[in-house]
Amino acid sequence: MNQNLKEPVTVLKGIGEETAEILTEMNIYTVQDLLEHFPYRYEDYRLRDLAEVKHDERVTVEGKVHSEPSLLFYGRKKSRLIIRLLVDRYLIQVVFFNQPFLKKKIALNQIVTVTGKWDQHRQTITATEIHIGEYSKGKELEPVYAVKGQLTVKGIRKFIKLAFQYVNNNLDETLPESMLNRYKLLRRKDALRALHFPLSQDDVKQARRRFVYEEFLYFQLKMQALRKYEREQSAGTALEYDEGKLEQFIAGLPFPLTNAQIRVVKEILTDLKSPYRMNRLLQGDVGSGKTVVAAIGLYAGVIAGVQGALMVPTEILAEQHAESLRGLLEPFGVRCELLTSSVKGKRRKEILESLSKGEINVLIGTHALIQEEVQFKKLGFVITDEQHRFGVEQRRVLREKGENPDVLFMTATPIPRTLAITVFGEMDVSIIDEMPAGRKAIETYWAKHDMLDRVLGFMEKELVKGRQAYVICPLIEESEKLDLQNAIDVHSTLTHFFGNRARVGLMHGKLSADEKDTIMKEFSRNEVQVLVSTTVVEVGVNVPNATFMLIYDAERFGLAQLHQLRGRVGRGTEQSFCILLADPKTEVGKERMKIMTETNDGFVVSEKDLELRGPGDFFGRKQSGLPEFKLADLVHDYRALETARSDAAALIESTVFWTAAEYAPLRAYLEESGAMAGEKLD
Ligand code: ADP
Ligand code: MG
Repeated sequence: MNQNLKEPVTVLKGIGEETAEILTEMNIYTVQDLLEHFPYRYEDYRLRDLAEVKHDERVTVEGKVHSEPSLLFYGRKKSRLIIRLLVDRYLIQVVFFNQPFLKKKIALNQIVTVTGKWDQHRQTITATEIHIGEYSKGKELEPVYAVKGQLTVKGIRKFIKLAFQYVNNNLDETLPESMLNRYKLLRRKDALRALHFPLSQDDVKQARRRFVYEEFLYFQLKMQALRKYEREQSAGTALEYDEGKLEQFIAGLPFPLTNAQIRVVKEILTDLKSPYRMNRLLQGDVGSGKTVVAAIGLYAGVIAGVQGALMVPTEILAEQHAESLRGLLEPFGVRCELLTSSVKGKRRKEILESLSKGEINVLIGTHALIQEEVQFKKLGFVITDEQHRFGVEQRRVLREKGENPDVLFMTATPIPRTLAITVFGEMDVSIIDEMPAGRKAIETYWAKHDMLDRVLGFMEKELVKGRQAYVICPLIEESEKLDLQNAIDVHSTLTHFFGNRARVGLMHGKLSADEKDTIMKEFSRNEVQVLVSTTVVEVGVNVPNATFMLIYDAERFGLAQLHQLRGRVGRGTEQSFCILLADPKTEVGKERMKIMTETNDGFVVSEKDLELRGPGDFFGRKQSGLPEFKLADLVHDYRALETARSDAAALIESTVFWTAAEYAPLRAYLEESGAMAGEKLD
């Protein structure tokens, strides 16, 4: 790397300590940082034909002054100066506010260039800039930069110019020649020049294209290097299981696997058999049948002689999983046990003992599984369900319980591919993108709050048929700030509404684990017909007789979350319904409700969610692990991301990458990033 670039910004004449300090606040320390402080947009000064300019758009025109300027004062310091201007064949009006001094400068028949906002109805430009004389070429696009404190955009422009002079075109290339050629990318120095001093829109576009690719390639190289490290350096064990026995197990399942299940089972088994360590993300929409896939993997592990663990975020889920896994595995002689914080005393001691002796084959539980006292004899395969609820640290602790066990993360939140390969870039990804046959699609409707009576009538019809219903509310208690339906209120309203025709239960996060448990059991035994709840039922709960879901204030939820909630119904053979009660105020809000009514495909929902909310908000307020890119945009530049990812993967596996001179900058970068030593990267 060119040494000049690493110099502090103060080497530039005109940048003193004070300015340097403000620049520091913007994370600009060196000459290079300054050069890489990219404009976030461009002021467009190109001349345009007024016929093509839309109302309220900014425009620059050149014309001949057609009337003496007329100046009008109003108020104490306010004034309005008006001229008529002949632009091509149009006679328009140009208004300047509070610039009375212009009157003396503008004369009849003069040629002037003005920039401002076009009012189509009044055929008027409200001008912000005027240049006496003809339009001069070469300044069509002016970069606009983020600034802080006393800094101005003009100031930054000047500093960047200085930085360019300082490095004197002496800018090293950071992409290999072969890639510049393959994708016809601008060289780094040309691209930098084009971003800061663009000659045309196309100039900017080409420069952007180059940097987007560079950013993605560098990022993906890190991820792929880390992936390679995780697979190879922290050597796993190759599990050797009896293929015949496993086939018997699969043949004995109550249903044939879907094609998607067969594919991901194969991917998982290949990992288990290989000496590499599995680090795999399994994505599948709610109800796509991840549990049975997990069971097959666990069974393979068990017959290969290792123990398995399944970790889930809530006790309810742990119990449900324990129940379904027992159903699938115990007939084949696999001992499954449940360990949660409510398993106490003697029972707990027994389980821990049997576990350390290796008598328990599969342990299912909440994060209680990662406590110190839990010791396996030989843990070889770890599965976490709904992994986004576990932090990186918890996942690591669990992994370290065994000797480099294979790890499978399962999630029912379909993550758009662009985000998946970014946030989980160091993992392999398996996707179940197919539902078991015979599933009836949930019918989703959007209703305004004033239609509640009809909605409740609809709900009652389902109850009369013997079905059950969920009613979801965004908050637990009444909030003065937010006028939202709350679970407690809704519970009492519905209790009153249904009288003795249905029992209405209440479930929310402030209940104790025991209370939650009791109410969930009552609901699953159909002792309670209507369950009013906050989003605590979001994950995994399985009551196939529930066919109706009503979601209050649906506009308050993210699309992915609505989809997740909706997945609680449609789990049986009967037709299910989901009603979104919402009065969204914005177009985007309405659009979101419409998307929910139009598709049942979680991946489609999540892609739309990403489009509408942007990558930053997709994961909500929780730490997302999303890297920040300077120019690249995960939504719009996804093709470049895919390209960079496959290029990075191929490079990492190739010999030439580790030897050829043209890859030296990339290798140096990897070395510096720590990815090759397996350090977790942020
Ligand atoms: P999820 O992916 O949400 O965890 P589950 O594993 O709970 O889904 O599966 C949902 C339901 O579908 C379960 O009742 C399960 O028995 C059933 N199921 C899974 N795979 C199949 C299949 N291939 N054919 C029919 N039913 C299936
Ligand atoms: Mg599940």
